[in-house]
Amino acid sequence: MRIGFGYDSHRLVPGRALILGGVQVPSTLGPEAHSDGDALIHALIDALLGACALGDIGRLFPPSDEQYRDISSRILLERTLKVLGEAGFRPRNVDATIILESPRLGPYIEQMRSTLSMDLGIPGAAISVKAKTKEGLGLTGQGHAVEAYAVALVEEP
Ligand code: MG
Repeated sequence: MRIGFGYDSHRLVPGRALILGGVQVPSTLGPEAHSDGDALIHALIDALLGACALGDIGRLFPPSDEQYRDISSRILLERTLKVLGEAGFRPRNVDATIILESPRLGPYIEQMRSTLSMDLGIPGAAISVKAKTKEGLGLTGQGHAVEAYAVALVEEP
């Protein structure tokens, strides 16, 4: 077994869809990003790549590359899993925390878990997604950004 850690953040701006864990969450603000800006999946991709020492999301999917503009991060995750699979690695479980001041994510957590379960090909019981606020502290606490942290355990070839 190997463990990996990932982090991501995006500034929140008007006129963008807020997508987290592949789930669209109703919001007046969404992430400023080259892709769909799914901070949870981006942190997860870095955790998976990190566990296998296979680089990071920016190296695999350069933001300068036009083919990734507004792309669904679920596609990036699928491609990441292919890279892992080719190296013989398999994800076993993941744990993630999203930090967002509003809206509250409680009602969407189960949908994120089942979406990730489908995409990762592991049971929902092996996928944990948690949501926190920053109690008004800093730019994220003032609602200007979304952040996500993730750890992933992968099985070695
Ligand atoms: Mg990102």
